[in-house]
Amino acid sequence: MHCPFCGADDTKVIDSRLVADGDQVRRRRECLSCRERFTTYETAELLLPKVIKQDGSREPFDEDKLRAGFMRALEKRPVSVEKVETAVSQIKHKLQATGEREVPSILIGESVMEQLRALDEVAYVRFASVYRRFKDLNEFREEIDRLERS
Ligand SMILES: [Zn+2]
Repeated sequence: MHCPFCGADDTKVIDSRLVADGDQVRRRRECLSCRERFTTYETAELLLPKVIKQDGSREPFDEDKLRAGFMRALEKRPVSVEKVETAVSQIKHKLQATGEREVPSILIGESVMEQLRALDEVAYVRFASVYRRFKDLNEFREEIDRLERS
């Protein structure tokens, strides 16, 4: 880590301790060139990537919006809230696992479809019909046929 005072490459850690209930590591460092001391904090990066919308604009990932999308599709369907929460956290985990700073919104949409498909087929078709904006009834029917076959 570069020294913030003189820019030297070599700094040494002279003290290291856990703070914030163990969620952060606080390190005291000393520059080997100018002997100045400074502190760094290290936190595990658990930020979710920003979402690139169809029009190219970016917005922060919105967990509530994701959950609302599931709820809308699952309205009056026999699926527990716990299963929805599991689906939401699996999608978050998947987004974090990409390691990207930004992901296209389509990736989230496809992930929701994947989860719904496993949870409830009616909800899946509901969501898919809106999400994919089936062009006509035939396309919609093809999707249902495809579901029945699989
Ligand atoms: Zn220095």
